[in-house]
Amino acid sequence: MKAVIRKPLNPPQLDFLRKQQSDVDAEPTRKKQADRAQTLWRGQTRSRTFREIRETLHGMCHSLGRCMYCEDSRATDIEHIRPKEHYPEVAFVWENYAYACNVCNQQYKSDRYCEGFLDPTVAGFDVWEHWRFDPATGALIARPGTPAEETLRILGFKHDARKPERTDLTIRRRDFYGLVVHLVRSYGVARRTGDVAETKQVVDQLRSPLQFASIVEWALRNRQPAENDRSVRLVLDAYPELPDLVLTG
Ligand SMILES: [Zn+2]
Repeated sequence: MKAVIRKPLNPPQLDFLRKQQSDVDAEPTRKKQADRAQTLWRGQTRSRTFREIRETLHGMCHSLGRCMYCEDSRATDIEHIRPKEHYPEVAFVWENYAYACNVCNQQYKSDRYCEGFLDPTVAGFDVWEHWRFDPATGALIARPGTPAEETLRILGFKHDARKPERTDLTIRRRDFYGLVVHLVRSYGVARRTGDVAETKQVVDQLRSPLQFASIVEWALRNRQPAENDRSVRLVLDAYPELPDLVLTG
């Protein structure tokens, strides 16, 4: 999970959502509001405005449309951060939408939520304030009992009694970190030998990874330098411009 900058919707898109939300809010009970939200949600897929809203969410994703939660799969679903089944009052509120892959959205997150569930679209979000990465295993580790830990459980990134843990993701995260280490070392070699074309190519690869943009961020702006690969630390000491080249702009 990596911070995502929420783009603004235009006035017709906001009006569209407001209209849908006011239809939901007009229902007399919470149960009826939830039912109405479900019906409206199913019925709007043909709307051009709704398609534009989906496009805006897609444009907010990293790496050509990666899921905002797992960063591994392609995002395809509008995800209600607060599920519309339990929070119909935000079923059509722009700030309640993320873009996720089908597995994250339907198989794991589904209608689950906890107070403080990590939302990568919140301004100033920094996932590394909430959990850490273990490069040896690829696991994400949060302090026990925190909303961050519950977020990991809900998404299947950590063992949870209700769903199988997504250990395939853990392994891919670990392997991806190996690729980042390789690229950072390549950057060091390219800079040392003055190979400008290779330098640029490596930066481009790190800027637009196919998966796990957050792991690139972890490796380059590390809070626990000792956990980072020694060769990465040496390159970062010698060429301190690399994090800014990759992570800004
Ligand atoms: Zn996902």
